[in-house]
Amino acid sequence: MAFELYKLPYLEDALEPYISKETISFHYGKHHATYLNNLNNLIKDTPLEKESLEDIILNTEKYPSEQAIFNNAAQIWNHTFYWQSLLPTKQKMNDIPDGNFKEMVLRDFGSVENLKAELKKVALSQFGSGWAWLVLDNGKLGIVKTSNASTPFGKVKPLLCIDVWEHAYYLDYQNRRADYLDGVLNNLLNWNFAIQNLDNV
Ligand code: MN
Repeated sequence: MAFELYKLPYLEDALEPYISKETISFHYGKHHATYLNNLNNLIKDTPLEKESLEDIILNTEKYPSEQAIFNNAAQIWNHTFYWQSLLPTKQKMNDIPDGNFKEMVLRDFGSVENLKAELKKVALSQFGSGWAWLVLDNGKLGIVKTSNASTPFGKVKPLLCIDVWEHAYYLDYQNRRADYLDGVLNNLLNWNFAIQNLDNV
């Protein structure tokens, strides 16, 4: 059975002015959709057709001969996670709600501002295409980066992510990755999604 395109949980202009409708239109409607079409073509009439997206990722990652399948499957997973890591501008969360997650942020980063600064630093340090992630690793929050399609899924628990491929920001910010990150970090982060991921065992 072919995988279906994840439905964006908001309108394409919902992240403006930080991420434009035009960027989302290409990023979701072309890039994400292309990964999906590629994967469906690659697994057609193979045993992988019956597997979940998660199992395909875990079962292909180690094998160079399966790299195209891994890349497309992981990019579908990463993008589905990214869309949910962002919240429409009108629903902006100025702070993390009180609770277990916020206590962990204060314990492991000292402040919400420090967490954002660390996420920005790591996202800027990713050379070329990739992702920056807030993860839970052995009971502790941390920030990691991954290259290209690589994902922390299956190794540590992802809580939030930011896409730092140029296609995520070039139309709006050209080469200014830091400005894109400021827009996302200060306005669009969906802390409730992190809390939901933390609670999902
Ligand atoms: Mn992307």
